[in-house]
Amino acid sequence: MGERPLVIPDSSVVYSLSSGHPPVATVDPGSQVVFQTQDAFSNQVTPDSPDLSRVRWETVNPATGPLAVRGSEPGDTLVVDILDISVPDRGLMVTLAGFGALAAVLRDSTVRFLPIRDRQILFNDQISLPAEPMVGVIGTAPAGEPIPCGTPGSHGGNLDTRVIGPGARVYLPVFVPGAGLAMGDLHALMGDGEVVICGVEIPGEVTVRVSLARRKRIPSPIIETADSWFFLASAADLDAAVQLSIEQALAFLRDRLPLSLTDLGLLLSIAGHTQISQIVDPLKTARMCVPKRAFASYRLAF
Ligand code: CA
Ligand code: CA
Repeated sequence: MGERPLVIPDSSVVYSLSSGHPPVATVDPGSQVVFQTQDAFSNQVTPDSPDLSRVRWETVNPATGPLAVRGSEPGDTLVVDILDISVPDRGLMVTLAGFGALAAVLRDSTVRFLPIRDRQILFNDQISLPAEPMVGVIGTAPAGEPIPCGTPGSHGGNLDTRVIGPGARVYLPVFVPGAGLAMGDLHALMGDGEVVICGVEIPGEVTVRVSLARRKRIPSPIIETADSWFFLASAADLDAAVQLSIEQALAFLRDRLPLSLTDLGLLLSIAGHTQISQIVDPLKTARMCVPKRAFASYRLAF
């Protein structure tokens, strides 16, 4: 049995990812760490206090951290294995007047609490949906100006990408010594797009293992699951995000496979999938999904 993992409490929160935040702890590569996280509203919206107008908006999207990983340097890649995400017995959904894809239709702000029993989200008497827990915000500290936790980017951040669940391996660029990993904004369930602006928002615990791929530079987050690689890109509009995600997938494959760019392009066109992560954050996030079976004849590894 290993040592008990380090636990970072949900009182250690930041509202931006920044090289200016001192690390709350430093661990060696290979360590397991538990991040306890508040929900996206800093646990301010409860059945006893359901009023959105009382939310202090400067404290939305908290992330727990940052954690320093010993020896990580700019140009490395931080590797975060998502081992487990806890699911509490209640989640929160909201609509916010003026926000989301349905802002013209859903004109009022609403708050909905959803019971969760045995990992089933009880939407109403007729509809229950199995939980598929995921991490909405996960990122490293950028080199330049702080980036609010609500914004996604090449450092990660508010990626709102539903494949970032238990079993996923998240690759993040390292821009500053120590990496500065932080995460939060757990969802018990979220659809691609996150169209009204939320998932089933939950506080909880994320158990991860952090490691390093030294001197392996990536331009933007990559997710690896048992079946697929996902190349994430965020931009002001979806067209640009999609384009960047495809180019990133092509570059990754080009560097690792003995195939021509033409062959790789053709294969991406028949076996790859352009997917949308979210459309409601300050930048939109798209991902190129590359199923592993398309390249099963090769040893395709990070
Ligand atoms: Ca989010
Ligand atoms: Ca959220």
